[in-house]
Amino acid sequence: MNSIELVNFRANFPILFEKVNEKALVYFDNGATTQKPEIVIKTEKEYYQQFNANVHRAAHQLSAQATSAFESARNNVQHLLHARHAHEIIWTKGTTESINLVAQSWGMNNLTCDDEIVLSYAEHHANIVPWQMVAEKTGAKIKVLPLDKTGIIDVDKITRIITKNTKLVCCSHISNVIGKINPLEKIIACAKTVGAKTLIDGAQAIANIPVNVQKLDCDFYVFSAHKMYGPTGVGVLYGKAEVLNAMPVYQTGGEMIKSVSFTGTSFHELPFKFEAGTPNIAGVIAFSSAIDFIHQFALNQADEHKQNLNDYCYQQLSLIEEVQLLAEGKPDIPLFSFIIAGHHQKDIGSYLDAEGIAVRVGHHCAMPLMEFLSVPGCIRVSLASYNSLAEIDYFIASLKRYIGITS
Ligand code: PLP
Repeated sequence: MNSIELVNFRANFPILFEKVNEKALVYFDNGATTQKPEIVIKTEKEYYQQFNANVHRAAHQLSAQATSAFESARNNVQHLLHARHAHEIIWTKGTTESINLVAQSWGMNNLTCDDEIVLSYAEHHANIVPWQMVAEKTGAKIKVLPLDKTGIIDVDKITRIITKNTKLVCCSHISNVIGKINPLEKIIACAKTVGAKTLIDGAQAIANIPVNVQKLDCDFYVFSAHKMYGPTGVGVLYGKAEVLNAMPVYQTGGEMIKSVSFTGTSFHELPFKFEAGTPNIAGVIAFSSAIDFIHQFALNQADEHKQNLNDYCYQQLSLIEEVQLLAEGKPDIPLFSFIIAGHHQKDIGSYLDAEGIAVRVGHHCAMPLMEFLSVPGCIRVSLASYNSLAEIDYFIASLKRYIGITS
């Protein structure tokens, strides 16, 4: 993207023209949630204004229109992920719910006290706590994959941790703190040699890199719409059809049943058996427009502009002696976590906020990772394609001013 293209691209995001603390907003918290393009806002509004109706059940035109848009969103996700079937795509309310669904349905029915669940130190709490709950109830044990000094899962150690007792391996595609692509090919291949299932948390990957679940050959892949320019309250669980088919239902109620009687109740086939109750119809349809937007601008590719942002921000942060990045080397996506000795992250966050710069501070829902790295918390700067080199300059200048560097 050249500078004119970037100006035009930014024009898609109304919020970027807002002022924060009387300063132009510099939004560097995209790892938490991305901003929404006009098309997503408009699509959600159009659904409510023009064809608001419940899906799948009614015999009227509006419902047919809503159902068609809702199901075509499912096809859109199928193609985004290169999944074999549309019915392998389950709507949830986010990554967290997708993982809980697998934990409660697959985990509670397939794990025993002889089994092990393998996680990594870099997991978000959403990919730890549901497994702790399952482990508590089933007696299964949790083992943890360590990271190497560059912050990715240490492939030299995986065969020590993944053993014949391993029934499930869960890890992030890209950690929300480290910003590097984990060596999934090797991890998934290792899990397969012992017959373990694999769940990949794609929350940070999906907006930044192409994902092909058939090539990865994972059993589950999960993510949230809101981290990829879509609305909040929508998420995806991809699962291989044969694995999902063998799983019992999770939540029950309307939409997911075939017939209900006091003498026996039967459930729908995939994907509906996992979609109880009225879904977030407006959100799902708007999410589909976010996927179209992503394709239009190739935002899930390592595009040159994003690469430039990554290179430049890494270079500028590396030039500040006081900045200590949590992992060695440049991240694969423009997401940087660091500490500055002698300064509390919260104070730095507040200072930047007063300058109009939105960053994230704290443990980033990754407390075991903070412990592994021996830091109490950190500052995270996460960029998206609408950010600019000038914004990085402004951020770096503000950070230097805070530290007391004058040049
Ligand atoms: N996993 C990772 C890697 C994340 O970054 C996040 C959110 O920050 C989550 C899971 C949880 O996502 P959500 O809150 O949308 O369910």
